[in-house]
Amino acid sequence: MNAPYSERGISAVIPVLDEEASLSELIERLEAVLTALAGDRYEIIFVDDGSRDGSFAIVRHAHQRNPRIRGIRFRRNYGKSAALAVGFEHARYELVVTLDADLQDDPAEIPRLLAVLDKGYDLVSGWKQVRHDPLEKTLPSKLFNAVVSAVSGLRLHDFNCGLKAYRAEVIRTLTLYGEMHRYIPALAHWEGFRVTEIPVQHHRRKYGRSKFGASRYIKGFLDLLTVILTTRYLKRPLHLFGSIGTLLMVVGFAIALGLTIEWMLGGTYLTNRPLLLMAVAFMIVGMQLISIGLVGELIVRQSQSTREYHIREQV
Ligand code: UDP
Ligand code: MG
Repeated sequence: MNAPYSERGISAVIPVLDEEASLSELIERLEAVLTALAGDRYEIIFVDDGSRDGSFAIVRHAHQRNPRIRGIRFRRNYGKSAALAVGFEHARYELVVTLDADLQDDPAEIPRLLAVLDKGYDLVSGWKQVRHDPLEKTLPSKLFNAVVSAVSGLRLHDFNCGLKAYRAEVIRTLTLYGEMHRYIPALAHWEGFRVTEIPVQHHRRKYGRSKFGASRYIKGFLDLLTVILTTRYLKRPLHLFGSIGTLLMVVGFAIALGLTIEWMLGGTYLTNRPLLLMAVAFMIVGMQLISIGLVGELIVRQSQSTREYHIREQV
């Protein structure tokens, strides 16, 4: 049913920021794995995200030896999402795998990921079940995964594993920027793709250090808001802002009404009722949210650029 890998071809996309120490070993192992799977129908695309070390020189060298190894180099550091997005744009084959450049992800897992893909999935994500990272990283990550699971409706243990396998259609519909790479499985799920995960080996970082600092959590959270807004409410901003706004208005009005009745019945002065302030604030903020939703609707109506649907197939 599925054509052999040597017909469909495999593109590996790897974001690289200052990973010169691990690249040679990674290239060697990837070449071995991909040749075994797909003969010569594979490519390894390194996207150098503004490295200041010799990373790109290693890629250039490897390219001279084996033209299936390709390199794209950013002028400066744009972030992992941008690196993946560019790599995806250049990927030519029907099957696409991503992995980190630091050897924490094991190239030997690629065959298993692809095998699961061929069972009828569009995206198979790695799950670092036994994780070799410091506690200050694994703990927030647990929380992150729980929140994204709950919000997205896609139950995964590990959204942000670098090791993933895709059918090419998936990467063509994804729009990645900011720190969106953390939500790839959720984005794909919302587009209607079939997404799953399997446990994979994870290794300690041997060389260099992690490229993400504490700011990852704040940025990650803000991007979650963007993801929710742009995927779920892109075409109907009034549903999001209007419902919160209406709720606030109703609650505010009910409180104000209660206070008014109380005042009419028996002379409590509204000047010493702090609740009045809350009622007024609720009503004003509620009205503002509804207005924002309406303005959003106008903007959506103006812009035809965003299609709401993607067609899977036609007969
Ligand atoms: N990376 C990148 N651009 C960045 C940060 C990271 O291309 O701005 C790459 C990095 O070289 C690695 C992968 O993304 O291949 C994952 O980064 P890292 O290992 O530092 O993340 P961690 O494993 O600590 O989550
Ligand atoms: Mg890493």
